[in-house]
Amino acid sequence: NLIYFNGEYVNDKIAIDPNDRGYQFGDGIYEVVRVYNGMLFTAREHFERLVRSAAEIQIKLELTVDDYIEICQHLITENQVTDGLIYVQVTRGNALRNHIFPESFKPVTLIYSYDSARPVEGMDKGVKVITLEDIRWLRCDIKSLNLLGNVLAKQQAHVGQAVEAIQVRDGIVTEGASSNVFIIKNGTIYTHPANHLILNGITRIVIKRCAEELNIPFVEKTFTPEELYDADEVIISSTSLEVTPVTQIDDQTVEIGPVTRQLQQAFKEKIYPAS
Ligand code: PMP
Repeated sequence: NLIYFNGEYVNDKIAIDPNDRGYQFGDGIYEVVRVYNGMLFTAREHFERLVRSAAEIQIKLELTVDDYIEICQHLITENQVTDGLIYVQVTRGNALRNHIFPESFKPVTLIYSYDSARPVEGMDKGVKVITLEDIRWLRCDIKSLNLLGNVLAKQQAHVGQAVEAIQVRDGIVTEGASSNVFIIKNGTIYTHPANHLILNGITRIVIKRCAEELNIPFVEKTFTPEELYDADEVIISSTSLEVTPVTQIDDQTVEIGPVTRQLQQAFKEKIYPAS
């Protein structure tokens, strides 16, 4: 498999510098981009978010949005990816260990692709989630490599035989460990506003567009765990999960409903515009 690392295309193996700040501090950012039918999906939106994340933590990227897209396209072709994901990470670079930024630094970029099928079973039958306390930092809008809070939440979900952990901060549902959360009540979709407490998911943005096209009210307003339990329908979304219905929250069951199915259909039409 071809990998892009530090300005070069290399086969399979790369050597990480022990002083890479991504490795030592999680001092970097990342994106995961979908490939459907050998084509990038919403790549521009992902790389614009990468540019924003970089700016928020004062990393000067050496590549432009178009450069990233070109590299991804090259990897898709060379690695013959049909349905898959592309992982892109940029760290602040290599410097002798010190919390303070180095005087000058050269970001280290890693981009690789892998095969991944659409999550059809979960989308069809729904998944179980658990709720837990959101213990993450207060800049969840940055797609940072620091994922320990998310990792611990996801592991707790896994131990509870659930697919996702829905995080709750100060009595408000924020988001999943690696997804956004939506409830549907009386025909209206509600999701947490895109502020510093959640990642503004690209899938979330696509869902918003779909809702607008379908004339389904889409309201960016917080909701409580009680409202989550009481919802008519519950959805989680991400680049890899797409529009996945929730059928169980902790010990409570939820039905998959018509709004979810409409959104799934509209989302699919965005993936395969011709069909
Ligand atoms: N929130 C968090 C914390 C995530 O890790 C992800 C997945 N990257 C999302 C939301 C969904 O974002 P996207 O739709 O861009 O994949």
